[in-house]
Amino acid sequence: MFHSELCDECGDCLVFCPYNHYEQDRARQEIAQLKAGGSPPIVGSCITCGACNQVCQSQANPFDLINERQEETGALGVPQEALDRFAKLHELATRVEKGEPGKPVVNLCIVGAMVREQLKGPLFEGLTVVEGADYFCSVGYVHLGKPSLMAKQALPFIKNLSSLNADEVICFHDDCYAMLTSIAAQHEIQVPFRPVHLFEYLLRAVSSQPQKVRALGLKVAYQAPCASRYTPEKDHYLDELFDLVGVSRVQRDCEGLNGLCCGAPLMATDKQKASEVKLRNIADARTHGAEAMVFLCPMCFLNLRKLCQENGIKPIFITELCNQSLQQ
Ligand code: SF4
Ligand code: SF4
Repeated sequence: MFHSELCDECGDCLVFCPYNHYEQDRARQEIAQLKAGGSPPIVGSCITCGACNQVCQSQANPFDLINERQEETGALGVPQEALDRFAKLHELATRVEKGEPGKPVVNLCIVGAMVREQLKGPLFEGLTVVEGADYFCSVGYVHLGKPSLMAKQALPFIKNLSSLNADEVICFHDDCYAMLTSIAAQHEIQVPFRPVHLFEYLLRAVSSQPQKVRALGLKVAYQAPCASRYTPEKDHYLDELFDLVGVSRVQRDCEGLNGLCCGAPLMATDKQKASEVKLRNIADARTHGAEAMVFLCPMCFLNLRKLCQENGIKPIFITELCNQSLQQ
């Protein structure tokens, strides 16, 4: 949600944008145009990464304003077939697989088919697993320039999870955690259970078996999903997890605040740009000595896996990294 009253039109957000080149004056002008209801070029050239929300020192959320204007104008140019494909996710079968009483619930949202293998092994033993249309957070609509559709789904999504009567719901998909914390708060929706980020859960689960943990001794790059821009406060869990399983992060340019999008949001609108961004990201990891790239988001994993392998970097999903540390 954009907070016009907090924005002093400094332009720092657009000057920071890693996908567009803005001088301060032009950035200021375009922000002023956006605030006045106009649709300057940034509306069409923004790739919806959300980084400028994180950069704005005033917490004005400039991306949310750009995203609103993308919806009003259609300037993002997402083809109808991509919108239809995404809408089909609302037809995915809802599944509830009951676990052991007293154990937490894990929500797979709509990524179940991509992560099913990751649930095998001791880390998720006995958990209740839910997934499908009823548990779809819909945050991905921001990448299609349709934030109102995400907002429309917020309440039913939270109600469906609430009806499970769990004290805690583990979010396998980072988008769900963003929805249940930052986005729900912005829309003043109460969440009557504690959302637990996958990093926090894994840290707990691995720490509970200290005698089995072995240091992996890997140098890694981390690929943060766009949704993580909403919730940087949970990132300390990843640092602790990396310490626990004995991996070190390489010091590279495209990490943290300067992290790059995996390219997925661009695939429907500009494949050439998607390819450039992916290459820049992997080249940066390789130049700085990463042996592996660790992923949290299944979409990032799908998009970058092959390119990682072609460049001698092992793609590893965060759950697999934990399993490797326990299985050595
Ligand atoms: S949104 Fe934030 S960073 Fe951007 S112009 Fe306004 S105050 Fe500056
Ligand atoms: S959301 Fe990302 S691409 Fe869009 S203006 Fe902000 S930083 Fe640039």
